Amino acid sequence: MSSKQLMVYNSLTRRKQAFQAPPDGEVKMFVCGPTVYDYVHLGHARTYLAFDLIVRYLKFLGHRVNYLMNITDVAERIVQRAGRLKRDPLDLAHEYEAAFLEDMKGLGIRDVDRYERASDSIPKMIAQIGGLIDKGVAYESETGVYFEVKKFPKFGRLSGQTYEELGLRRLELCSSKRNPEDFSLWRKYSEGLAWDSPWGRGRPGWHIEDTAISMAILGDTYDVHGGASELIFPHHEAEIAQAEALTGKIPFVRYWLHTGLLNVDGRKMSKSLGNVIRIRDALRENSAAELRYYFATFHYREPMVFSKEKVAKAKSKLETLRTNLNYFLATEPAGLSNEMKRMSGVISKAEVAFRRQMNNDFNAPGALDVLHNFVRELAKVGSRMDQETKEKAEASFRRMADVIGILS
Ligand SMILES: [Zn+2]
Repeated sequence: MSSKQLMVYNSLTRRKQAFQAPPDGEVKMFVCGPTVYDYVHLGHARTYLAFDLIVRYLKFLGHRVNYLMNITDVAERIVQRAGRLKRDPLDLAHEYEAAFLEDMKGLGIRDVDRYERASDSIPKMIAQIGGLIDKGVAYESETGVYFEVKKFPKFGRLSGQTYEELGLRRLELCSSKRNPEDFSLWRKYSEGLAWDSPWGRGRPGWHIEDTAISMAILGDTYDVHGGASELIFPHHEAEIAQAEALTGKIPFVRYWLHTGLLNVDGRKMSKSLGNVIRIRDALRENSAAELRYYFATFHYREPMVFSKEKVAKAKSKLETLRTNLNYFLATEPAGLSNEMKRMSGVISKAEVAFRRQMNNDFNAPGALDVLHNFVRELAKVGSRMDQETKEKAEASFRRMADVIGILS
């Protein structure tokens, strides 16, 4: 495996593959956005910080990236919560959407090119559902329109399940479906959040929302689709089935990237355990740079733990990094000519080491080690450099640190 080539773990093939940028040079990337019925929490931060780091590194390598994220503002959970609060569902959703965008900004996530609401794309979803019925892979029943899973033999490939196993996973219980594994494309509702369609009033299923939005903006096929690993089944499996059954173009997405789970003090974060930490609360106790540093101490695919103790340790390590950087910046360059060549070597060695780590499926923990070693070395020998070399070293360090976003 060459360290010069970016290798990414593709959930679809279950192995690391060389990342090939498309011929026009623009990497098209879609990440599943939040369902906006409440404040976003650290589980969301895990995914969105991971993809922020991925985008920043792709740009560091010189790629252009078109990064799209959907906003799920049409969903059962929103309708239910709005009903309890006696609120209009879309009003409620857009309030939490605004809070979400604020939290993303608070985390220093700045590279999403476009956020697209499900409610603004209903006609595109209706068109896709109609297309799937025409292809004979979807059917209408009393309660809605369903995708008939057995008509798409590749279903189960992403999550590694056989057709028999799929039949045992009884999702979306509904007596009007032909088969238990079929999933909804359209649900009929006479009131509430609903739109007119050829199948009566109702609203789209979650899976078709994302397929319709991403294909309308990024095209029938694109490069990267990301999300939390818990979305692999059934959500992403369904997305592949919808897109490929509709267009016949394979693969729908070339690289599927998934982030690991986040636990709080070793336990799953959940409302019933009362240990849900909102992003805005975490940002009250920690700066964005501190949170970004802490999240980067875990590889994006491995499970991570959030605990006050561990965060405190990470914060003191970040402090060491900054102290060394400031010490280096404060040194008066002596300009010893015999040191310049050696220093150029130190800089290029650090850059090579940084790329080697990040090229290995975005290994941020390894990249942090490289940054620590680099700045320690700079602090040690900074006073022997000339001004030009010092500036070069500082720029190099900042460029790499900015991929992780730990200096601002
Ligand atoms: Zn999605």
